[in-house]
Amino acid sequence: KLHNTILELKGNIRVFCRVRPLLPDDGAGQEASVISYPTSTESLGRGIDILQSGQKFPFTFDKVFSHEASQQDVFVEISQLVQSALDGYKVCIFAYGQTGSGKTYTMMGRPETPEQKGLIPRSLEQIFQISQSLSAQGWKYKMQASMLEIYNETIRDLLVVNQSSGLDSVRSENGVPGKQQYTIKHDANGNTYVSDLTIVDVCSIKEISLLLRQAAQARSVGKTQMNEQSSRSHLVFTLRISGVNEGTEQQVQGVLNLIDLAGSERLSKSGATGERLKETQAINKSLSSLSDVIFALAKKEDHVPFRNSKLTYLLQPCLGGDSKTLMVVNIAPNPSSIGESLCSLRFAARVN
Ligand code: ADP
Ligand code: MG
Repeated sequence: KLHNTILELKGNIRVFCRVRPLLPDDGAGQEASVISYPTSTESLGRGIDILQSGQKFPFTFDKVFSHEASQQDVFVEISQLVQSALDGYKVCIFAYGQTGSGKTYTMMGRPETPEQKGLIPRSLEQIFQISQSLSAQGWKYKMQASMLEIYNETIRDLLVVNQSSGLDSVRSENGVPGKQQYTIKHDANGNTYVSDLTIVDVCSIKEISLLLRQAAQARSVGKTQMNEQSSRSHLVFTLRISGVNEGTEQQVQGVLNLIDLAGSERLSKSGATGERLKETQAINKSLSSLSDVIFALAKKEDHVPFRNSKLTYLLQPCLGGDSKTLMVVNIAPNPSSIGESLCSLRFAARVN
């Protein structure tokens, strides 16, 4: 009975937790175990315990992936959610966690290595394959992708198409470079769009890999500076799907948003000044607005504070109503990250 009530309250919000393996960079002396799963051999369960200063903090989520879970293990658990975008649902999948916890690995992975591909390439391939197989039942799909970054509450287009990319953009740079507005607008149907944002038609698997390469390039521009910046910005990949059944004339409009959030770590307040302070404030504001929005939706509150950040305003139509949300909380296993890991799990427990 109690269990049912919790499920009702949660509605269409699910929370997964994923622990990345220890890496050589984590340094020596990091072997001491501070994270435990119900059984040490289980790569997929629901519980996770954190040990800090001899104290045990237990958490339960919809799924917990241990350090042994592969990209495929994670994808298997989200593939149905991804597929529901083809049935006309609006879906958001977020990766949350401190910098270095495995968000980008989970979302993008290493697309050039088949086993290490992340959720974005796997989702695109699955959607593409299923949409093709549904053509036998008369379904025709049109898919359009966009990819943007929100940095300091400012939007940057990651798919501004250069001639050599081989992609045809439907709507690209509006004339003069640098004059784009990238303003978030809500239309009469309650959908959002971003003015001047590049939208790319996705018609083949080949185009998908071109798209991913283009995005990877855009994110690694000016490596030192941008790498730093990429952990301070939210990446939002959006795939819009419209399907028409030529026999029954049924129509569906689904959206799949895959979001690699900015690092959730708290910077020491004393050290942050100028740009750094502005960044930190922008990240704190947008991550806490996201949590406020998800919390308000889960509790079915009348007022949902979508307008408090660019991220939540942009995703507004895909977060409420009968849309589906999944938060993947990424955790680093090393003892020196334990404080941040606890913060991430508490954040997740709040929206869970
Ligand atoms: P974040 O995006 O949260 O800052 P990354 O995804 O860049 O973190 O991960 C940090 C490092 O850990 C990268 O070198 C990444 O390849 C590696 N990594 C993360 N998760 C895994 C995993 N599940 N298996 C193997 N390596 C991983
Ligand atoms: Mg990252």
